[in-house]
Amino acid sequence: MLACDTCDAWTLFLEFAKSRCSATAFGNWLLPIKVIDSTSDEIVLEVPNIFVQEYLMANYKEELCSFLPVDPTGEPAIKFVIVPPKPVLTAAKPVLAVEIPDGVSKREVKLNANYRFETFIEGPANQFVKSAAFGVACRPGLTYNLLFIHGGVGLGKTHLLHSVGHYICENHRKLKVQCITTEAFINELVDHLKNKSVDRLKRFYRSDVDVLLVDDIQFLQNRLNFEEEFCNMFETLINQNKQIVITCDKPPSQLKLSERLIARMEWGLVAHIGVPELETRVAIIQHKAQQKGLNIPNKVAFFIAEHIYNNVRQLEGAVNRLSAQCRLLDLNITEELVEQTLREMLQHNPHQKITVDQILKSVATIFQVKISDIKGTCRTKEIALPRQVAMYLALKMIKESLQTLGSYFNRTHSTLLHACKNIEKRMTSDEMLRRQISMIERNIAS
Ligand code: ADP
Ligand code: MG
Repeated sequence: MLACDTCDAWTLFLEFAKSRCSATAFGNWLLPIKVIDSTSDEIVLEVPNIFVQEYLMANYKEELCSFLPVDPTGEPAIKFVIVPPKPVLTAAKPVLAVEIPDGVSKREVKLNANYRFETFIEGPANQFVKSAAFGVACRPGLTYNLLFIHGGVGLGKTHLLHSVGHYICENHRKLKVQCITTEAFINELVDHLKNKSVDRLKRFYRSDVDVLLVDDIQFLQNRLNFEEEFCNMFETLINQNKQIVITCDKPPSQLKLSERLIARMEWGLVAHIGVPELETRVAIIQHKAQQKGLNIPNKVAFFIAEHIYNNVRQLEGAVNRLSAQCRLLDLNITEELVEQTLREMLQHNPHQKITVDQILKSVATIFQVKISDIKGTCRTKEIALPRQVAMYLALKMIKESLQTLGSYFNRTHSTLLHACKNIEKRMTSDEMLRRQISMIERNIAS
């Protein structure tokens, strides 16, 4: 076989593999592999880590044998060279520059290369918002002119916003996409004000933008001078049937902004992004691990997902830490290692005082009930149990008198003691309850 034949054979193999696996798996596992040398009886492949090598051999050995040279023992004749990618500082997110031919000049859209629909894991808590974002990306300006995505920190708002950007850049190439953070926009505006060139900026947003993606609009609060400019810009774009997507940490009604601007945003489709459930969190962990070429046993993934449950960024942090530890110290991922890593991550600051509000919030999240119900008078089982758990934890974690603690729950001190005894008793036989309480404790401690 000629050298270039072997090289071509690799290309053919890639084409074959592409039709057999998901785009994400292909991108994560096979695309990073480079051919660095090939002869008629051997091919030398560069891989970023041992996991990619193992993945390839574990999943495609037979196919490799039919596409590539085979050694005398019948194994694919591949020599692997591991070349780790250059370390990337975590603070600097990779930025993809997409050039859009717009007839006149070339502009850059700054989008995080990892934030794509393909890499967004769906579950009941984010399915609606993902569909809404995808709908907008498929038919920009036609479905809902304005999509408003809101939800807590680290739940994927920016990820979805950039996904819309990528999708439109790739599938509606004529459309001009502008993705900005609210801070950056304000800074830009300030610069233009200084240079007396605001008109140019306005003209740009009026005539050179088809899709405007605005991240973190909550930062517009208390920036009175700029509110009107935003409002004008939104209205102009909406009136031209352009597409706007906004992200925020709260719903429009809770923003301290002018009524006019709030009304504008509420007029669009308002979609909430919630905290992913256990199974989704496990899928996210597995996905992030796979991206890093890390193999996390399912049991361990569940373990992590049970301990970190209200922030996907933190889940990612845990995977990154584990990955670093495994590589640096050459360790296997065991539950023990994970426990130690998580303990370090979630180690709580001893100076930080725990409050009843923190306890109520965590209990309400885990048991999926409202804080007002816990503090209220309803006696149904669904409410009574979380209420008793909250009292038990308050007694255990907060050093205050029974009377004071009781007053937070509108209960007497004897009710508090009763709740505490009851929960302690139940915990001896109820594994599920023990787990729930341990999750709440860790959450509060983090
Ligand atoms: P937010 O903007 O809501 O604070 P980000 O979009 O920055 O959160 O998400 C934080 C991190 O978590 C990012 O690295 C993102 O890729 C990841 N992430 C969040 N939700 C998901 C999801 N559903 N699937 C995959 N990754 C996610
Ligand atoms: Mg964000």
